[in-house]
Amino acid sequence: MLLMISDFSERPLACWRGKERFEGRILECLTVIFRTSGCCWNQCLMCSYRHERFTGTLSPESYEKNLLSQLAWIREHHQPDEYQMVKFFTSGSFFDPREIPPDVRNRIASAFHGKIVIAETRPEFVNEESVLPFLLAIDDGSWKTPLFCAIGLETSDDLVREKCIRKGFLFSDFTQAAARAHESGVGVKAYLLFKPLFLTEREALEDMKASIKAAMQYADLISLNPCTVQNRTDLEWYWKRGAYRPPYLWSVLEILQDSPVHLTCDPVGGGRQRGAHNCGTCDDVIVQGIRDYSLTADRDLITSLRETECECKEEWHYILNQEMPFCMPLTG
Ligand code: SF4
Ligand SMILES: [Zn+2]
Repeated sequence: MLLMISDFSERPLACWRGKERFEGRILECLTVIFRTSGCCWNQCLMCSYRHERFTGTLSPESYEKNLLSQLAWIREHHQPDEYQMVKFFTSGSFFDPREIPPDVRNRIASAFHGKIVIAETRPEFVNEESVLPFLLAIDDGSWKTPLFCAIGLETSDDLVREKCIRKGFLFSDFTQAAARAHESGVGVKAYLLFKPLFLTEREALEDMKASIKAAMQYADLISLNPCTVQNRTDLEWYWKRGAYRPPYLWSVLEILQDSPVHLTCDPVGGGRQRGAHNCGTCDDVIVQGIRDYSLTADRDLITSLRETECECKEEWHYILNQEMPFCMPLTG
């Protein structure tokens, strides 16, 4: 995987090449994180992307010019015939017109004509006015669904999303956004967050199993994101005080096996203290296996990884059975 992180505002925040499974095929994928004015919500407890924003004042013209120069940089460094899929992230929502003004969005669409585009956005920005022109501009007839809105649903449980993530929207906001996307011929990808703050390992496991079953009714693609401890977040504050542990990789395997649909999963920071991890001995082979499963959808691989012997498996069973819930007060 070729990864480039940039400090120059004329370049995207990050841009790298990788592979993605899509409709039974493995495609070359370009992932782009645009540097923008930042997330309009800016409150999620585990998120550090929200800190990545332009500071100071930029006139609307300079701001647009800057985004276009990021686009030019991408085009110059990655030849379009080298990849079929593009994933767009910003430090917030791709379809928020304050972050990516419609004129710039149109230019981005023309630049990626013929590609499958997966663009991350909060649900409130999914509407016909924003997604349909983009879909029409990228569609060259090669793909049945060339555009997907990727929404950080995180969980199907509204209480968990409010108290443990502070996401600021409801499951019904997600389902309504999914309906609006589908009405415009746009697909939906759901990102699920495995083990936010304040949940025990077992609670988090059950939360994910239920969330997958709920999300698959509305989403065409689902990505399982084991939570990582990012810098300068509320989650990090708790982690540093021993009040949070990222999930076990054993749990990730159980969720992947239990899921009725194939999930993509890239355990960022997997095997490290800030990412999903086991004991340090068995981690590398499991993390690699999870990445391989994302591409191959080979369930036998998950079965054999779950059968791997390691002393920490007993610890994991103990944690699942003995960890006590975080006793949040029910009244204020
Ligand atoms: S997770 Fe998304 S919605 Fe939440 S603060 Fe970060 S960028 Fe904003
Ligand atoms: Zn182990």
